[in-house]
Amino acid sequence: METRASTCMCVVVCVAALLSIAAAAGWDYLDGAKGPSTWATNYETCGGMKQSPIDIVTSKVVDEDLGDFTFVGFGEDDEPVDAEMTLENNGHSIVVGVTGDYQVSGAGLGTTAYKVVQFHFHWGSVNSQGSEHTIDGKAYPGELHVVCFNTKYADFVTALNEPDGLTVLGFFLDVQAADNSVLAPLFDLLSMIRFEHEEEDLSTPVVFKNFFPADLSSYYRYSGSLTTPPCYEIVTWNVFTEPIMVSEAQLMLFRRQFANEQDAPANISLVDTFRPVEPVNDRTIYMNSGTAALVASYSLIAMVLVKVLASVLED
Ligand SMILES: [Zn+2]
Repeated sequence: METRASTCMCVVVCVAALLSIAAAAGWDYLDGAKGPSTWATNYETCGGMKQSPIDIVTSKVVDEDLGDFTFVGFGEDDEPVDAEMTLENNGHSIVVGVTGDYQVSGAGLGTTAYKVVQFHFHWGSVNSQGSEHTIDGKAYPGELHVVCFNTKYADFVTALNEPDGLTVLGFFLDVQAADNSVLAPLFDLLSMIRFEHEEEDLSTPVVFKNFFPADLSSYYRYSGSLTTPPCYEIVTWNVFTEPIMVSEAQLMLFRRQFANEQDAPANISLVDTFRPVEPVNDRTIYMNSGTAALVASYSLIAMVLVKVLASVLED
């Protein structure tokens, strides 16, 4: 018994030691000892072959009819009754923890639904950078990620160990003159959670479909990873082509966040919270063109009809 007890004790101590190494290692978005170029040293998977984000080169994208998404709980009329959302500054991002049965399925995601766990933001210090994914080398001022786990697994943590464990809905953030009124209640809370580990509840959960772009049928799809350590390669990515629009003033509220706790000796601005793009390697990037393709094919048909009519009239 004594041997078993001491073995147990060793396991506890060893695990604690490993955890403290991981905690001490840490990571950030700065250009220093914990920055993105060092992540693979402390978190092996960050050096893998299926990493995210990537630059999407539109000339290399393969058209694929993946179909539309089915969203449950995302509209005003079908919001989960127990829906709750809590904003947290976790020192790396602003994360909105989500309670309630929000589900995503369809769109070639397999036969099981994925359940929303949280959504969070990435943003830049200036408008020319901030998104994680880029399109033909172009970055947007920011990017919103809705993280969902595959319900064929018991919970989010279990899903983290599975190759089809997560799907993420990625939306670019772009700038318009007017505030985004749907996301305004969320932006209003940012001044109360400027420091790491501070959190605030949204008094009323925001309705996803009210701030999602109108066209959800045009999106890129590829197999990738978490874009932060431990960079597990378990994410089916969906990067939508139509951005979510916010104002410059709203972006400034992100830029006023800090990466440190309130009593830290010095403040570190929480900006440029994006990982640089990773190699695509041998992956295929698919595109479901949706409405955009339909419009394109309709205009092609219209063009042909006009030409036929013109030639008939000439005769
Ligand atoms: Zn993210």
